Amino acid sequence: MLCVKCGKELADGVGFCRFCGSPQMAGGTVPGGGPASAGAGRSPAIDLPTLSTQDYIIVSALIAIALLLVLIFAVS
Ligand SMILES: [Zn+2]
Repeated sequence: MLCVKCGKELADGVGFCRFCGSPQMAGGTVPGGGPASAGAGRSPAIDLPTLSTQDYIIVSALIAIALLLVLIFAVS
């Protein structure tokens, strides 16, 4: 097995690295694996509802019309 911290070769089943002294996880799992990194692939921002290009144009047009109406009423 390899040290989880310094990566040096250790005897299987040792509790601590004899080079750097860091405690070793049982089973010698590779750092970086596991459910934590698997869940990191999905960003919460991606789950937000996104407007399609057509919807974006419609919303922009509505905002422009609303601004025009405000300007018209403000001038008159
Ligand atoms: Zn080590």
